[in-house]
Amino acid sequence: MHVIPVTGHRWCRRCEAEASVAVDELTGSVTVVCTRCRQVLETAANRQVVRTCRASLAAAHESRRARAQAQSSASAAA
Ligand SMILES: [Zn+2]
Repeated sequence: MHVIPVTGHRWCRRCEAEASVAVDELTGSVTVVCTRCRQVLETAANRQVVRTCRASLAAAHESRRARAQAQSSASAAA
């Protein structure tokens, strides 16, 4: 298993190319796709990355929602 810890990139063993982690911020979906064959890679390690990305996305959404609520209550008071 080839893992490049610094970038978080994964390795497509079939064509020996780097795979990139794609995050869709709108839907919160995370996919690991080979940059050469465009195949979505499904390994236990990739699922771990997906879980980690989803968790950080959820945290980002949570803080964004809290800010929006603070702003709307501030404008309602004004
Ligand atoms: Zn590939």
